[in-house]
Amino acid sequence: MFEKILIANRGEIALRIHRACKEMGIKTVAVHSEADADAMHVRLADEAVCIGPARSSDSYLNKSAIISAAVITGADAIHPGFGFLSENADFAEMVESHGIKFIGPTAAQMRKMGDKITARQAAVDAGIPVTPGSPSLDTVEDAVKWANKIGYPVIIKAKDGGGGKGMKTAFSDEEIKEAYTMARAEAKAAFPSDVVYMEKYLQKPRHIEMQILADEHGNVVHLGERDCSIQRNHQKVIEESPSPALNAEQRAEIGDIVRKAIEKIGYYNAGTLEFLYEDGRFYFLEMNTRLQVEHPVTEAVTGIDIVREQIRIANGATLGYTQEDIKFNGHAIECRINAEDPETFTPCPGKITDWHAPGGLGVRVDSAIYSGYTIPPYYDSMIAKLIVFGTNRNACLMRLRRALEEFVIGGPKTTIPLQEEIISQGDFIDGNYNIHWLEKYMASKKFEPK
Ligand code: ADP
Repeated sequence: MFEKILIANRGEIALRIHRACKEMGIKTVAVHSEADADAMHVRLADEAVCIGPARSSDSYLNKSAIISAAVITGADAIHPGFGFLSENADFAEMVESHGIKFIGPTAAQMRKMGDKITARQAAVDAGIPVTPGSPSLDTVEDAVKWANKIGYPVIIKAKDGGGGKGMKTAFSDEEIKEAYTMARAEAKAAFPSDVVYMEKYLQKPRHIEMQILADEHGNVVHLGERDCSIQRNHQKVIEESPSPALNAEQRAEIGDIVRKAIEKIGYYNAGTLEFLYEDGRFYFLEMNTRLQVEHPVTEAVTGIDIVREQIRIANGATLGYTQEDIKFNGHAIECRINAEDPETFTPCPGKITDWHAPGGLGVRVDSAIYSGYTIPPYYDSMIAKLIVFGTNRNACLMRLRRALEEFVIGGPKTTIPLQEEIISQGDFIDGNYNIHWLEKYMASKKFEPK
């Protein structure tokens, strides 16, 4: 087994990975920017290396600084977490060329499944249904032609897109021209390539994704689904497992399709296949070739430590269990807690004056925050994840309500009041929501924070 793992990330996910390492008897190396010298991931790790100034491009995205830190400290593997370099195939390749294991899929698998256009093709070849779509679009005329072929409304996306950025919808020939130009410009500014393509825009789908684990020896299991339909600006706000929209048969059916596809593609480590689900049908969206923010809800209902499994798989181990061994138990919901104004979603960095995280049976808080900590303005505004488990959805909701009430975060504004409000709406309680629900809800009322 690895002796020392460098964690190329910050915040709660760096802590999450550190915890798995410690439980496996593995030493950890934290890397941090100058702005993160006081961060909890730095305090808890066995060793820490400063890799550059506050800006992510100078630190957490600085490939050579991170690899140098691994070489200097003698780390034998790097876990990239999510975001930052986690889906950067060049980084994975560089890491491996230094004789260090990258905890994730191979660079070739990342290139194939991380690019939305090639991933869609791989999905089709492997028998996974996809949304009707186009190849890459080189000109406005191309866009108009394909939009008419597919039928309005359509959504234009960057092939390298992520984080819900740069997607543009169009409902007519007039709108498509502007949507195309804007999507390309945004892609050029935000992603490595400005290549865009088009998909049919579904009007009332749920976002349902399947977690998979696969080893280098051809064993693949799925760990069920997560429903991530409560979204704002295409970004997830609440996630749950199982989905209130699926029954056990539907779960087994999509699970089977996904498992066979992963076997055929030959992908290994952890991964997630994202789908839109509308009128009883699944449409593949994209694959995330990394750990996801919402992985704890799956851990809660399967009892499987996904980060531990990623480390074992990277070390060449076999899964050691089959699909029949995976048992789904109870219900879990995750609320993302951001340091943001709950009304306008403007980030609110600043000092945490008070911190009390909820606890008790079935309550998990993943966070790197402590009382007296100052949230720097340079990074993502998610400061905690509250994950609650119950024997069924109703028990889970009752406990979630209690846990949110108990949470005390003094200082910056947070999205806790919004989360409390969402989970007490009839639609949410009934599991009756799709990807547009939250935006419609926000628009329908003047939100008054507590
Ligand atoms: P990203 O990689 O930026 O997260 P995704 O392709 O995963 O982009 O899509 C993010 C979200 O955007 C989805 O969860 C969904 O809410 C919305 N979306 C994407 N594609 C479509 C589509 N074809 N129809 C309707 N909504 C879509």
